[in-house]
Amino acid sequence: MKLSIKNLSKTYANGTQALKNVSLEIATGMFGLLGPNGAGKSTLMRTIATLQDADSGSIFLDNLDVLRQKDEVRKVLGYLPQEFGVYPKISAETLLDHFAVLKGISNSKERKAVVEALLQQTNLWEHRKKNLGGYSGGMKQRFGIAQALLGNPHLIIVDEPTAGLDPAERNRFHNLLSEIGEHVIVILSTHIVEDVSDLCSNMAIINKGEVLAAGNPLELVAEMKGQIWQKLINKTELADYQNNLYVISTRLHAGKLNIRVNSDLRPDASFTSVEPNLEDVYFSNITNSTVTKIVSA
Ligand code: ADP
Repeated sequence: MKLSIKNLSKTYANGTQALKNVSLEIATGMFGLLGPNGAGKSTLMRTIATLQDADSGSIFLDNLDVLRQKDEVRKVLGYLPQEFGVYPKISAETLLDHFAVLKGISNSKERKAVVEALLQQTNLWEHRKKNLGGYSGGMKQRFGIAQALLGNPHLIIVDEPTAGLDPAERNRFHNLLSEIGEHVIVILSTHIVEDVSDLCSNMAIINKGEVLAAGNPLELVAEMKGQIWQKLINKTELADYQNNLYVISTRLHAGKLNIRVNSDLRPDASFTSVEPNLEDVYFSNITNSTVTKIVSA
């Protein structure tokens, strides 16, 4: 299965250009859409999920025209929106059963089996009688995945699913997603680099409505080999370094600042070469720098 997005653009009524000529090819497996807040991720997710229209461009899921054959797409789509509201006074089992009715599973015996299987898969079976208002953030997100999986979707969209989860909950959520991603297309939108490096075999970096990079995360990282340098500096020196070098990230370390710089050549002998990681790829793409290349060693 393949999702082909071509030259998709969207400008909101207030003039915000949320998508600028976005083109992406997404195959079966986990695809990470990585970008900072405001990048255009939700706009793209909602458009693929048939919830809003684009101004121009096309989206095809194999032969299905996503922008026009909305009802057909909805039959094969599972969607976990960024703001997933639940009715707090209803149990998970009752609400999932209700969603299953809405999804068209009318046979009550079949529905009972489907609801049980999904609650088991998302590890919520023992909490099925509990009201959703008493669920933790991670449990709510797993419930969100359970409802997104109703009807065996071929395309699953999850928008910022791990924001606000603690590390253990995030880990459990990652394991659940990676099981699902083996046979269908799962698009995971996130601003968290580890979500993508842990889970996704393909990815794109998006900022200000534009796709800045796309490909396999390991290959994108490998392309940066020999280009990332680091140094421990005093905090007061930062502005100076930023003026002269392409500083892609800074991190406090024992009261000093560890800066990472993107440069074809070693900026000077005080910098050490480091192995690039996906964070370096991400920050190199989204950091605006007036310093383009270092010309001398
Ligand atoms: P992300 O999901 O990456 O945070 P969004 O798609 O939500 O990004 O937003 C992209 C841009 O479009 C932002 O500048 C946002 O403020 C703007 N935007 C989003 N939704 C609307 C809307 N309904 N009306 C006007 N502007 C919007």
